[in-house]
Amino acid sequence: MLNKPLEGKKILITSGGTIENIDPVRYISNYSSGKMGFALATAARLFGAEVTLITSKEYADKDLKIIKVKSALDMRDALMKEIDKQNAVFMAAAVADFRVKEVAEQKIKKTSECDEITLTLIKNPDILNEICDYKRKKELNCTIVGFCAESENLLQNAKDKINRKGCDYLIANDISRSDIGFGSDYNEVSILTADGKIEKLERDTKENIAKEIFKRIKIC
Ligand code: C5P
Repeated sequence: MLNKPLEGKKILITSGGTIENIDPVRYISNYSSGKMGFALATAARLFGAEVTLITSKEYADKDLKIIKVKSALDMRDALMKEIDKQNAVFMAAAVADFRVKEVAEQKIKKTSECDEITLTLIKNPDILNEICDYKRKKELNCTIVGFCAESENLLQNAKDKINRKGCDYLIANDISRSDIGFGSDYNEVSILTADGKIEKLERDTKENIAKEIFKRIKIC
């Protein structure tokens, strides 16, 4: 393998769980740490790529272009501004499926008369689906990689998902295991391709898994 196999390539990576506001002090999010996305960004940079990281989490690396976002809608806007220039997009972010329909402008107060409140949630756009459609429409030369975190029937759900989402690759991991996945420094993944191939990468640090992913994925 060449020293810098991704030299001249532009790679965009999303990471972290999105943050969906309820009011100015509260939000809905998830347990995604962003670590897999950070490991991918660092590995891509190490292999010579020009990397843009769109993330909801704090991360500092002067060699990366980092765009900080909060909500799924912010993430979609940031991604759409960048996508035309990219050779590959890795959607490692855990995008919230729903957001609060009406975000309160002021902090919601508790009152003695009221024992419960109801939040109405509405569906967020599926960003991965949208960028896959956009790629086809604009005939972009861009490899699109989705991620899926499943707690049961990992491979069957992953196979269904790669078809439904329309991406070139899907990286699947099992979040029912406490020794890998969410928050952990380790992961164990299966790489699925759009034409039905599956390759498993055994448990290793997220840094090493990220490097192995880049050795296997064909970047446009
Ligand atoms: O459907 P599911 O959430 O399991 O799909 C995971 C993949 O889809 C991830 O790559 C994630 O970044 C992406 N996704 C998205 N927009 C959503 C939900 C998930 O882009 N609203």
